[in-house]
Amino acid sequence: MKIYEKAPAKINLLLDVLRKRDDGYHEVEMVMTMIDLADRLEMQELPRDTIIISSQAGYIPLDEKNLAFQAAKLIKERYDVRSGVYIHLDKRIPVAAGLAGGSSDAAAALRGLNRLWRLNIPTGELQRLGAELGSDVPFCVTGGTAVARGRGEKLEPIEGPPQCWVILAKPPIHVSTQEIYGRLNAASIERHPSTADMLHAIREKRFGDMCQAMGNVLEDVTIRHYPEVRQIKECMLRLGADGAMMSGSGPTVFGLVQKQSKVARIYNGLRGFCKDVYAVRLLP
Ligand code: ATP
Repeated sequence: MKIYEKAPAKINLLLDVLRKRDDGYHEVEMVMTMIDLADRLEMQELPRDTIIISSQAGYIPLDEKNLAFQAAKLIKERYDVRSGVYIHLDKRIPVAAGLAGGSSDAAAALRGLNRLWRLNIPTGELQRLGAELGSDVPFCVTGGTAVARGRGEKLEPIEGPPQCWVILAKPPIHVSTQEIYGRLNAASIERHPSTADMLHAIREKRFGDMCQAMGNVLEDVTIRHYPEVRQIKECMLRLGADGAMMSGSGPTVFGLVQKQSKVARIYNGLRGFCKDVYAVRLLP
């Protein structure tokens, strides 16, 4: 039997860091939602006790470092599954881009293997397993829109933001999330974005207010080392984006627009100096 799962990319509409915790993690407050840019996973049961990963993307690990491999291994061990699985990853989300591609693959593997191996694991338990693989995985298990607290694993689902276009541009650099959090001095953040304002704007479906409330405290840290992130953000706003911000720890920058007439202008303007540009919708 073969099954398929989509693994959509995630953007943060807001990312705040409240403090660094004694356990080394940062206490965060994030508003996250999914976009219609997704990897596709094909999963096939194998009679042998083995996990095989393949992908057309030559630049991701295909061994136990791959998050989909780790998801399969975890579920196999916890539920004593004897058969194996072959997972093909059709990668479309740019890697190390701040779009949680690996986390979403892991979440899709958890959902898919739950079906493939007929385990009937409840969603909450899949999310608990996901938390062992990475802070963004529990959110990716369900998707939708949510406020995430703690180290990102405490989720409060909320209704979706007003629909709009999302234009993404990724400069040709890889940024590691660990590196950016490592460089962040949480105690010296000068301006924190307001989660309350963001939630109010989303609840009232006020697109303009939502753009105003966007904020990411990691942006300054990434920009200090990768100034091209600022250039892209400024370019997006100049070209007419209603709001623009770096996603996660970067380096991808996304811009939001409601008017379709603006999309082509922004997309084409960015393509002038950036190869990886996408124009997609929010996932409803
Ligand atoms: P994060 O914010 O969690 O670091 P990201 O969106 O910035 O995520 P990913 O695309 O998830 O970045 O890749 C981060 C790292 O994880 C890469 O260096 C890559 O080698 C590794 N990785 C492991 N599994 C995967 C996967 N299935 N897809 C992409 N990258 C993966």
